[in-house]
Amino acid sequence: MADPLPLGATIGILGGGQLGRMLALAAARLGFKTHIFCPDPDSPAFDVTPRKTVAAYAHEAALAAFASAVDVVTYEFENVPAETAAFLSRLKPLRPGALALSVSQDRLEEKGFIATLEIPVAPYRPVRNRTELEKALFALGTPAVLKTTRLGYDGKGQRRVASADEATAAYAELAPHPLVLEAFVPFVREISIVLARGIDGSIAAYEPAENVHRDGILATSTVPAEISDETAAAALAHATRIAHALDYVGILGVEFFVEANGKVRVNEVAPRVHNSGHWTEAVCVTDQFEQHIRAVAGWPLGDPTRLAPVVMENLIGDAIAAIPTRLGPGHRPHAYGKAESRPGRKMGHINRISVQTPAK
Ligand code: AMP
Repeated sequence: MADPLPLGATIGILGGGQLGRMLALAAARLGFKTHIFCPDPDSPAFDVTPRKTVAAYAHEAALAAFASAVDVVTYEFENVPAETAAFLSRLKPLRPGALALSVSQDRLEEKGFIATLEIPVAPYRPVRNRTELEKALFALGTPAVLKTTRLGYDGKGQRRVASADEATAAYAELAPHPLVLEAFVPFVREISIVLARGIDGSIAAYEPAENVHRDGILATSTVPAEISDETAAAALAHATRIAHALDYVGILGVEFFVEANGKVRVNEVAPRVHNSGHWTEAVCVTDQFEQHIRAVAGWPLGDPTRLAPVVMENLIGDAIAAIPTRLGPGHRPHAYGKAESRPGRKMGHINRISVQTPAK
């Protein structure tokens, strides 16, 4: 097993969005330096990192210089190009590894991988042409959800279809990208497990969060979730099995549908810190960002215990303007420092903590 990184070591982070920013803040608190690599010169993470590289992910000379300046490489988004991941992993440890990236970048590969672990997913069929669309509709019926296999996020690249005609129209819009048709899961709620796996294979899992999406974007995460102990245990067991199967290091987010009978199906796996784990920042002994940095640095994982009930509310677009005015008791705001607010853009969040005053 690799030695733990010493204080003052440099953590390389691919991606300069809000997740990279929060990782850099956590790394600084633990005494590390960060070096953020991102093609966008206006990246919000650049405000909080001592070192940065602005270059394309395919720029080999920039990647080589970055690798020589860091001790370990991690990332804040799953669409790191496979060639970039392969190039960097030849030079420095890449945590989580390339398998987690390739599995999570392609919905078909992801579902196939999860199904081989005998973990339930929504019934699905590949759709690479019109014949396959017809076959998929015949097998799954409607309602269903047609999705691009790659590069979909926050509800982008997917259409809910109520009939074969709608599916044909959605196909015309989304093709020629390879697609997947999923049966619509009649879920009663959505939950996620955010967990960390250490370099020694140890697991530290947060409690399940109950997530509400609006327009395909996460709106709120509430903890504790209104689910049975059995449902929570099943979700935790599935997420843990996925983390071990990927020989994972770092924070992993796994999203689930919960059906009326309490059964869970995995919707999606994210090999990074996760929006539905932002609540941990306000109410857990160790939050997901510190936990991820500890894991990739080869440090022991921290304590994921939750200290109070909490609701995390995403501030999307102009909702960010609420921050100075909505600081009631128990509210902890976090603004991502993005210069421009646009509809659908994640600008910040507020954790509303149910503060419990200790008995005297
Ligand atoms: P995704 O991008 O796959 O995470 O999907 C975004 C959101 O769309 C999910 O969180 C669900 O609310 C909804 N959704 C996606 N796939 C399905 C499905 N097969 N059945 C029901 N709802 C879905």
